[in-house]
Amino acid sequence: MSTFQIDFGNSGPKSHQGKIVGIDLGTTNSLAAVMELTGPRILSGIVPSVVSVKQDGGIVAGKEARELLITHPERSVYSVKRLMGRGREDVGEELKLFPFHLAPQSGSVLRLKLGDVVMSPPEVSAHILLKLKEDAQAALGEPVTQAVITVPAYFNDAQRQATKDAGRIAGLEVLRLVNEPTAAALAYGLDKRKEGIVAVYDLGGGTFDISILRLHEGIFEVLATNGDTHLGGDDIDHLLMTIALDEIKNEWGEEISADATAVQLLRRAVIQAKEELSFVPQSVIRLDYKGKEYARELALDVFNRVIEPIVEKTLGPCRACIQDAGVKIEEIDEVVLVGGSTRIPLVRSAVERLFRAKPHTELNPDEVVALGAAVQAGILSGDVQDQLLLDVTPLSLGIETMGGLVSKLIHRNSTIPASATEQFTTAVDGQTNVLIHVVQGERELVKDCRSLARFDLKGIPPMPAGLARIEVRFLIDANGILSVTAKDLRAGKEISRDVKPSYGLTEEQVEAMILESFQKAEEDMTERQLREARVEADAVLAAVEKARQEDAYQLLNQEERSAIDRAINELLVVYNGEDHNLIRDKIEGVDKVTQNLAEAIINSVAEKALKGTKIDA
Ligand code: ADP
Ligand code: MG
Repeated sequence: MSTFQIDFGNSGPKSHQGKIVGIDLGTTNSLAAVMELTGPRILSGIVPSVVSVKQDGGIVAGKEARELLITHPERSVYSVKRLMGRGREDVGEELKLFPFHLAPQSGSVLRLKLGDVVMSPPEVSAHILLKLKEDAQAALGEPVTQAVITVPAYFNDAQRQATKDAGRIAGLEVLRLVNEPTAAALAYGLDKRKEGIVAVYDLGGGTFDISILRLHEGIFEVLATNGDTHLGGDDIDHLLMTIALDEIKNEWGEEISADATAVQLLRRAVIQAKEELSFVPQSVIRLDYKGKEYARELALDVFNRVIEPIVEKTLGPCRACIQDAGVKIEEIDEVVLVGGSTRIPLVRSAVERLFRAKPHTELNPDEVVALGAAVQAGILSGDVQDQLLLDVTPLSLGIETMGGLVSKLIHRNSTIPASATEQFTTAVDGQTNVLIHVVQGERELVKDCRSLARFDLKGIPPMPAGLARIEVRFLIDANGILSVTAKDLRAGKEISRDVKPSYGLTEEQVEAMILESFQKAEEDMTERQLREARVEADAVLAAVEKARQEDAYQLLNQEERSAIDRAINELLVVYNGEDHNLIRDKIEGVDKVTQNLAEAIINSVAEKALKGTKIDA
């Protein structure tokens, strides 16, 4: 998973009206910014990533929705980013941890229920984007129609596509998706330093991401990413809540954990106390509720002791990431802090200790991604004469070939935009359709990869097996979206598909897939060789069967015929065995005894052809 920056010269977008805004569409909070002469500037206040349906049916996003989340949780949704571009089968964990209300009639495409209103995750996100767009328009005093939106570096095709869809629904042309860590590095202008290694540590509300970027001649490359999709400020809130609820029970002699309103008010008090502690050494968790009062002083050192395990939990992924990136800690030149939770002093000191360097904290950590998105927007609009950012594919992409094998067209970690073209042919005589089955993953067999799309190229003129020329072209655009084209080179017929996978992958899943491919490499290779041998055996058996129908076969003597029968039987005996070498041996055996037959056939074909040809003197 990497991000590249390359020089595109002056090729900005063909036309643009007004300002292009940069948007950080976060799990907990979202933000919009714009590039100005003096640098990037935040346009909207923080917009909580919450959407709610009001009593009158109107849909709201942001602070107002966060209020409604307290009083009407059944008509509200938060953390929808976790569901973007993912299918029902992939979100079991999220459904367990978050109160998402799925619409009952939905198939594999997720749809959420907000009271009587049913919305897909991109539609929910679109309401957050609409709110940002309105705030931006108010701040700029002009319409906003184009945006750059940031996404986690590990987002796959489907998740990126879903984010683009959200933009489109909100009436925003999404000119580019940029990886969040790259945006953060851009906000700090680190692209100016030309060479170096940068670590981006992002601890937000509910997610933790660590990325290692390399800058080489002004080009950004994300060497590795790691993290925890369920670790962040929410966990700290949860710990403090547990303590406070317990103390309230003792002090008031009353359990308030079943009272939703009381719990939400306490949560707000806890968050306020937590956030204050980033600036002062002492704060108070205070709850006034139904004539009763709870006030708990919270000293920074006590708070630090409470949250230490959470901070500690971020360090493992950091070490793993550094190792994956293949760099040594002392080679890391810059450390950038991202995410509201990195305001916490203990987090800062832990990061400084691990990386043995003072992290960048000059910019607000919860604004830095939006600011970087604005820098990228400025580059695109031509306001900033600089470079464009590119990503790489997190997993290989390929198509299914005979024997349930995968032929990879674009390999993992290829820089994008990327394209690859390969030719395929038909396996059966007279075949007029080919199935284009697009898969994603590192394994050799289709069954061990993720199926992204299936479609048929139809109307191929019937011809003998192996003669058709089908060109398959994969193209990944700068936003990481894949389009697949299959073309029959003889008939000129062509079909194209934008691949919108029905589900996405989490960072853990991507890692698990890569790890699995290493562990199973040997096993996979053996299975691949076996299947390839069987596919070849099928072809040989079919060819011999066909040859037997030819006149030339009649010319063979009895001995030659029984030698062929014997060789074929021997091949059939080993065909279902596990030894690919043995199958290959027997294929060779068949080849040997059919050599005369093959020659005889070629001769008779040539004879026939000559008979039908008038040779001019
Ligand atoms: P996202 O996960 O959407 O990227 P943010 O980067 O905005 O979210 O982080 C939100 C988290 O940051 C919340 O848990 C919030 O309580 C926490 N946070 C914000 N300000 C502070 C602060 N001053 N001290 C500690 N935590 C903070
Ligand atoms: Mg964030």
